[in-house]
Amino acid sequence: GAMGTQLGRAGLEMGGKTTLTHPDAVLAVHRAYAACGVDLLITNTLTMNRANIESHNLEVDVREVNLAGARLAREAAGPGQYILGDMSSTGKLLKPFGPLSEEEAFAAFKEQAGILAEAGVDGLIIETMFDLREAVCAVRAAKEAADLPVIASMAFNTAANGGRTVMGDKAADCARALVEAGAAVVGANCGALDPHEIAEIVALMREAVTVDIIAQPNAGKGRMVDKELVFDMTPEAFATGLQECVAAGARLVGGCCGTSPDHIRAAVEAIGKR
Ligand SMILES: [Zn+2]
Repeated sequence: GAMGTQLGRAGLEMGGKTTLTHPDAVLAVHRAYAACGVDLLITNTLTMNRANIESHNLEVDVREVNLAGARLAREAAGPGQYILGDMSSTGKLLKPFGPLSEEEAFAAFKEQAGILAEAGVDGLIIETMFDLREAVCAVRAAKEAADLPVIASMAFNTAANGGRTVMGDKAADCARALVEAGAAVVGANCGALDPHEIAEIVALMREAVTVDIIAQPNAGKGRMVDKELVFDMTPEAFATGLQECVAAGARLVGGCCGTSPDHIRAAVEAIGKR
């Protein structure tokens, strides 16, 4: 389930830095999801790569924030629950569209993956990626840094026309390229889609590759309410959407923006454990 929007609801800043400033709040969110009976917990380290930290002037130490993120998730995990080290975009576009070279991006991803592996995560998840080229770079870097399974998940802007990211990458092309780069699981999360549309992306990827597919939709489409992005799909409707994702071929399911322990509990009950 979502970490950032849960921290936001508690009046805290979203993002990995909160791991260091409010570790108890992050631990409480992990514990709430662990209590739902999930199999996997994801560390609060989404954009804690050097390129993203530096471009946002976050003034956190890459090593410290990733080690702490892994430690909190591990502390919350019960027997049979595994920890995934969370990674995402550098926040900069790759050349020629932006300022970042592939070498710089690769180095930032490799550094973060190495630290998370050292911290003892059970696998890595690279998610909310909207540029296939950057996602492939991240998967390669993660595979080079660590001998761990890597999950790669893209954020889609539309389920139409074969499913497209903001950068125009098609769902099937994403799935194939990410598997070729070394991903053990591929799929979709976040983006502009609701769970029903994510199920359409799952079906497209299911046809393209043989590896397991992951689906982590938002709690519906975000709506602007008083300058705030609101996700207000009910836990029951969300669980029904996740069932559609499973029916379309997803083997791993969870929630992104706007999901809460109530959403995840409803999903666990609807889909069943193991
Ligand atoms: Zn999200």
